[in-house]
Amino acid sequence: MAGVDALATAELAAIAARGLLRTLEPLSSAPGAEIEVAGPRGSERLINFSSNDYLGLASDARIAASLAEGARRLGAGAGASRLVCGDFSEAHQLEEELARFEGTESALLFNSGYAANCGLIPALVGPGDAIFSDALNHASLIDGCRLSRAAIHVYPHADVAGLESLLCKASPAQRRLVVSDSVFSMDGDLAPLVALADLCDRHGALLVVDEAHATGVLGPQGRGLVSALGLGARVDARMATLSKAVGVVGAHVSGSRVLRDLLINKARPLIFSTALPPALACAARTAVALLAGREGDERRLRLWRNIEHFAAGLRALGHPAEARSAIFPVVLGTPEKALAAASRLRARGLLVKPIRPPTVPEGTSRLRFALSAAHTETQIAQALEALRAEI
Ligand SMILES: *Cc1c(COP(=O)(O)O)cnc(C)c1O
Repeated sequence: MAGVDALATAELAAIAARGLLRTLEPLSSAPGAEIEVAGPRGSERLINFSSNDYLGLASDARIAASLAEGARRLGAGAGASRLVCGDFSEAHQLEEELARFEGTESALLFNSGYAANCGLIPALVGPGDAIFSDALNHASLIDGCRLSRAAIHVYPHADVAGLESLLCKASPAQRRLVVSDSVFSMDGDLAPLVALADLCDRHGALLVVDEAHATGVLGPQGRGLVSALGLGARVDARMATLSKAVGVVGAHVSGSRVLRDLLINKARPLIFSTALPPALACAARTAVALLAGREGDERRLRLWRNIEHFAAGLRALGHPAEARSAIFPVVLGTPEKALAAASRLRARGLLVKPIRPPTVPEGTSRLRFALSAAHTETQIAQALEALRAEI
């Protein structure tokens, strides 16, 4: 066996022995509340509770038409990094609209939320500085922190007192940065953002907030949790994705104009990677307009009806649940338990992917339900009925 194959086989066997093997599963339909999975035994139709398409915009025909129109006019590829020759006026128009949406001076596009976090954090802190990171922050924030080579202090999840005691120990000579998801991606709970902003003020720390699961879902016009709490002026940089509720791909960092200038000069994923195709900016402009308009409000209303209905249903099954975001974890413990539960739900026509380490801490493998405005009442009821046997 070639060297790499021997290595891969041994590693995969070790991963599988822990119940953590991951495989791909292609869809054969458009994304949506009902999808088709192309299995080895033909395709399977399933009700989808695993997508982050919170408003059902990922398969919206008007957004797809903007993408197609943009591609016809400007082609499929950007050709270069934005700093070289891949900068298109469509991206600037989108950024202006995003800044208006966020209520900030500026916004800067990235190819993904992952790229944005890996670019943003190392642009703000470096070796000798100190980062304070919530224990349940998303992997892209963790990787951004690591890339910065600053000292990383992980505080217990959403624990304001724990964070404060760490901040008190940090040397005032160090630049300090607090970083948190606003809606935690695998738990659906909210960060104590007001308390975080107060602490950052008191300790002279910068505050970075990741709104990946809040944009489109929380706050007036779906502007996110920072806006909903009126913290816009107290958060130094906000990362929001265009890939979840917005239904397209990409992300943006919003904040001051000078922050944008700094990122253009320092954020390596922006500098050293080919820009998003301009057609995607066309699609995202249509999507953001829909999301922030009357239709967005209607979709959010439907989403929140589903959230309330699901939370009440879970509570009726004796499972503690709150209507605070579109994400509902059902923690089962071992990876094997989560895999078995997911496969029983699947036999009943529900796609709920099991979430296992390292995505979540050891011992907290779970089913993660992500609700959408596109789910019908019947689909939500089916999920609750299937869960009756699991919790
Ligand atoms: C999904 C996610 C990201 C990454 O965004 P992509 O656009 O998918 O790369 C970043 N942060 C959080 C909290 C996320 O859930």
